[in-house]
Amino acid sequence: MFNEKAQMMKADDIRKLQTEKMLKMVRYAHDNVPMYKRKFKEAGISISDIKGLRDVHKIPFTVKDDLRDHYPYGILAVPREEVVRFHASSGTTGIPTVVSYTRNDLDKWNDLMARTYCAAGAKPEDIVQNAYGYGLFTGGLGFHYGAETLGCSVLPTATGNTKKQIQMMYDFKTTVLACTPSYAIYLAEASKNFGYKPREDFDIRIGMFGAEPWSDEARASIQESMGLRAQDVYGMSELYGPGVAVECPEQKGLHIWADEFYVETIDPVSGEVLPEGEKGELVFTMLSREAMPLLRYRTKDIAVINYEECDCGRWHPRIMRIKGRSDDMLIIGGVNVFPSQIEAALLETRGISEHYQIIVDRDVLDKLYVKVEVDKDLYESEDYNQEELLKRTSENLIAVLNIRANIKLLEPGAIPRTVGKAKRVIDMREEHDRIEDV
Ligand SMILES: [Zn+2]
Repeated sequence: MFNEKAQMMKADDIRKLQTEKMLKMVRYAHDNVPMYKRKFKEAGISISDIKGLRDVHKIPFTVKDDLRDHYPYGILAVPREEVVRFHASSGTTGIPTVVSYTRNDLDKWNDLMARTYCAAGAKPEDIVQNAYGYGLFTGGLGFHYGAETLGCSVLPTATGNTKKQIQMMYDFKTTVLACTPSYAIYLAEASKNFGYKPREDFDIRIGMFGAEPWSDEARASIQESMGLRAQDVYGMSELYGPGVAVECPEQKGLHIWADEFYVETIDPVSGEVLPEGEKGELVFTMLSREAMPLLRYRTKDIAVINYEECDCGRWHPRIMRIKGRSDDMLIIGGVNVFPSQIEAALLETRGISEHYQIIVDRDVLDKLYVKVEVDKDLYESEDYNQEELLKRTSENLIAVLNIRANIKLLEPGAIPRTVGKAKRVIDMREEHDRIEDV
């Protein structure tokens, strides 16, 4: 097992190490990042007020805008010369969020990613095909160096050129596929179109799928069509990148590597820390990052944390699958709707494919439109009854959402395919209806 000592830490040891690292980190961030010195001063607290994990709630939050405000070099705690790499994510505002890494930060991230592969079931003898985008996005290099650190053979195919991708998967007998879940769904479909039978022709055992939320139904669909075990990986560029948390083979939540990330769950509106086991926004403190310390970073991801021992023997707390992002949540006619709920309802409907788009618009009232492709086999069969399928889809959506959707069934292939994160939700309404402005 890669870094077994860290992976198998007991709850008490995790707590002890978190406390030690937290106290050090609070001082380090305060003394080296002017933004934190200012935040502490404005909140009227000093580092001596933080004596243990129970005091962490006194520390002000860090939000994405703090990073944008420090474009381009970010919240640096070290001289720029000590930075060995930058990554960036594009934001809707046009100003990218830049993150920076020292040599030690990269070593730590590689260790976390190697553990992530290992905990998901990958082994040094695996052949890893990495179809995440390489570049400023953290997915490509994160999954690449993590697999190398574990000792795997890496095929850095990156995104795109799907035909070549599938050819290499076949020729090299790829055993681990790393990509977004939506691209995995597309690869399964495309390989059938190129004449392959994915379950028989490919040797992939494990999928390392992350970078976007996906439902249990999407997992079942990928596992079924590709004959692999689809493992969820969580992370974001602000927190190194992928490798913050990962599912073990039990698939009962994603283990957060708690020796490096201290997690809290807060009420997204009031900012109050919620008791253990309650659903709320995840907030992370990075416990030993050098270049860019982050204290209490608000992720906008909504989930429940489970602190009990997992059947795999790990005590690292588990994210019980991300239900959605607070900024992805749609309020339609006063009802809270997560796109992942719509996806789940669609995939439960027999005869419906996994390719869909959600459009929200308003004339007088909010209206929800769902465009979805009919499953190819059904579409081409004589049994296809559009009216009956429409009725079943509509019933399944109402059962989950409690609101009526205008559904449009499309022929297979009608919705544009993407190689990265899928653009599945289009909100045509005014911006002030979104939760970040509430
Ligand atoms: Zn586990």
